Amino acid sequence: MAPYQKRILDIVFEPGVKKIVLVFGTQLGKTLITMIIKAGIIEHSPNGILFVEPSKDLASNYMRERFNPMVRDNEFLFKKIREQREKGSKSDSVFHKSFDGGYLAIAGSNSPSQLSSRPVPYVIFDELDLCKLSSGKRGSPNKLVERRQSNFENSLLVETSSPGDEQESMIWPDLELTDFEKYFVPCPACDYRQVLVWEQMRYPEKKAELSYYECENCKEHLTNDAKPYMLRKGIWMPTQIGLPGTFGFHLPRLYSPFPRASWEEMVNEKIEADRQAKRGNPELAKVFINTGLALKFNPNFTITKKQTLVDRVELYYHETPPVLPEGVVYITYGTDVQDNRLETTVVGWGIGDESWRLLRKVHAGNPALDYLWSEYFIWKQSLIFKHPYGVDLKISSGCIDTGGHHADIVYTYVRDKQHLHYYAFKGSNTNKGPMLPQKPSFNNKGNIPLYLINTVAAKDSIYARLLIPPPEPYQPTPGLMHFNQHCNEEYFDQLLSQKVILTNDGKAYRDIPNTRQEAIDCEVMAYAALKIDGPDLALVAEDLKHYQESKTKPIEKKELNRSSNWATRWNK
Ligand SMILES: [Zn+2]
Repeated sequence: MAPYQKRILDIVFEPGVKKIVLVFGTQLGKTLITMIIKAGIIEHSPNGILFVEPSKDLASNYMRERFNPMVRDNEFLFKKIREQREKGSKSDSVFHKSFDGGYLAIAGSNSPSQLSSRPVPYVIFDELDLCKLSSGKRGSPNKLVERRQSNFENSLLVETSSPGDEQESMIWPDLELTDFEKYFVPCPACDYRQVLVWEQMRYPEKKAELSYYECENCKEHLTNDAKPYMLRKGIWMPTQIGLPGTFGFHLPRLYSPFPRASWEEMVNEKIEADRQAKRGNPELAKVFINTGLALKFNPNFTITKKQTLVDRVELYYHETPPVLPEGVVYITYGTDVQDNRLETTVVGWGIGDESWRLLRKVHAGNPALDYLWSEYFIWKQSLIFKHPYGVDLKISSGCIDTGGHHADIVYTYVRDKQHLHYYAFKGSNTNKGPMLPQKPSFNNKGNIPLYLINTVAAKDSIYARLLIPPPEPYQPTPGLMHFNQHCNEEYFDQLLSQKVILTNDGKAYRDIPNTRQEAIDCEVMAYAALKIDGPDLALVAEDLKHYQESKTKPIEKKELNRSSNWATRWNK
């Protein structure tokens, strides 16, 4: 048995467990788990079991090729089920087996009569998203049987599947109501626990034989040989709070212990899928995403939307020394604090909040250590941005995230830098009130002004702005977002890592599983910093223009300097 299977089998008979949702890739032993669950019920808590396969044919195949051999090879089950047969239970057939205290009925989801007959306490779905497809317009098969379970105090619904399409998937919304457990495995080199994600798979020169998994922390090159150790030392950990009695487990094929599902094999599959997709056939890419990565396939959103943004990347702020795009008149940043690094995006703002991503910077290290913050401070204070009008701009302000494990450290860091407009930021994912609070909260260690930002409002406006197309030929456009050469595919994945869900407050944003969020978080914070400062960007632009004009009329320069406050504004 693979190490990740154990916890799932352990909770099956725990009191209060009502629903278990397994979203697994293929080659991970999902079928074995459901077989052991059935055997466990027959042994420990015999009662009616309904097992649903996508079709009647698959159901009879399953009995012939999986269930009957298991019974034959297991002395206990053999005795239980044969005994009943010898008593001449007349209802027994390919689709119905009785045993002491209960029965196992197996149904195809395309036969709704089988699903909605008598009440049954235990229901197990195999490949739920395929079941949905074959049950067609007759409604969701899992909702149909859930009603049949309501009479029982000790009922259990087990749903398993690889997810299908975004719009169709039934298992995915159910998984999102659970505690969404992921399997954290330690790196053999540095011991850092991480969730295996495709983004860390490397295959130089697109050659599968050169592929390796890169540790997210120490960057060690891990090969498939490291897998058994990592799996053995792995643990399931919830990533959110789920409904009571409901447990969910997400596992892509990257975790498969089987040699035929090695990392190298997955890379081979991906290379072929990409090749086919380039020829206009996305089917293999979809299979890879669904059954390999155990993710929903989104034919519209993820791929085309991201691609439109990738196609929009411009070359700017790249010369030596770099020069700002002319429209930039104000500069802010957002810094995300992770356990092993600080990630910063510096954004330039123009009239109407038109914006240019200027720099992205990672400071690697542990935020608990002072040197990291000194490096970060020196880097930020030394940044000078040359404007084509001849003036040097500095960063005006920025937000630093206090939401992670290092809130106290951020408060301490920010405390003596109030005059530099370093803002302590905390995101609130409830859609209440305006984006900015009327005033900061001081309710924290050290009484630092803390800005509680409504991130739903902030993301609403960022995602709406992403839809503004750049005009051709270019002209200043309020809200338009520009991306430069520092924005790679990974950056856009992070920027688009959110999706909307409906809540009691109207709506909220959730992380799309298996994505990272630094880019969108930094974006929200840079935007919040701009709004906290609230500069009149048109007025600032006017000041800059005057400065340029004053250079050609040296006599007026002094007066203009005195009458405008641009120098103090930027010379922080
Ligand atoms: Zn490592």
